[in-house]
Amino acid sequence: MNFKSFSFAPEILRAIDECGYQELSPIQRLAIPHVRKGHDVLANAQTGTGKTAAFALPILQKLIDNPKPRTTANARVLVLAPTRELAEQIANSFERYGQYTDVKVAAIFGGVDINTQAKKLKLGVDVIVATPGRLLDHINSCNVSISNVEFLVLDEADRMLDMGFINEINTLMSASRNDRQTMLFSATYPSEMKKFSTSILKNPKIVQA
Ligand code: AMP
Repeated sequence: MNFKSFSFAPEILRAIDECGYQELSPIQRLAIPHVRKGHDVLANAQTGTGKTAAFALPILQKLIDNPKPRTTANARVLVLAPTRELAEQIANSFERYGQYTDVKVAAIFGGVDINTQAKKLKLGVDVIVATPGRLLDHINSCNVSISNVEFLVLDEADRMLDMGFINEINTLMSASRNDRQTMLFSATYPSEMKKFSTSILKNPKIVQA
């Protein structure tokens, strides 16, 4: 199965083509249709399986399908990741897959100057890829609001729980719209993760790749 069977917009297909992707990976084949249809998704996926494209491509397509003017200090997509490295990597992938769209992406993480990030957020971005603590700092400083976020992804959710981000994540969940579409990716499912995923996902489609 190739990417053309999912009727992606030409600007997305062009970017995929330039990445050299030909076949979909198993997680992409299973998750993309659910994300396109608007379902919440609970995905069991290891790193290196192509999971970033499994959520980034259909989310970019949904932004194209339902264009809205970019508003200042607001975003439509939020991806939470446990580490700076992963946040940067996901933000780079969104930029690469969205290079022929007008999507604006911000990578937000701690350990670097907060003011440069604040300036970018205040101008308005479509996609925020963030570690939970630094994003909360920005929200508390009114640099950005996540109350309009329509698509929320938790990547490597098990690692985020292991690192003790549960309170930050729950605060972020309550600051976002109740009718958002939520996608949770995790490599493992300890009982804590099961409880957590039940609390944040609505009738999720379960994907195991
Ligand atoms: P990820 O699991 O998202 O970190 O992706 C792992 C690697 O697989 C990255 O280098 C991607 O560029 C690459 N990749 C993702 N999807 C595909 C695909 N369908 N075909 C070939 N490579 C891919």
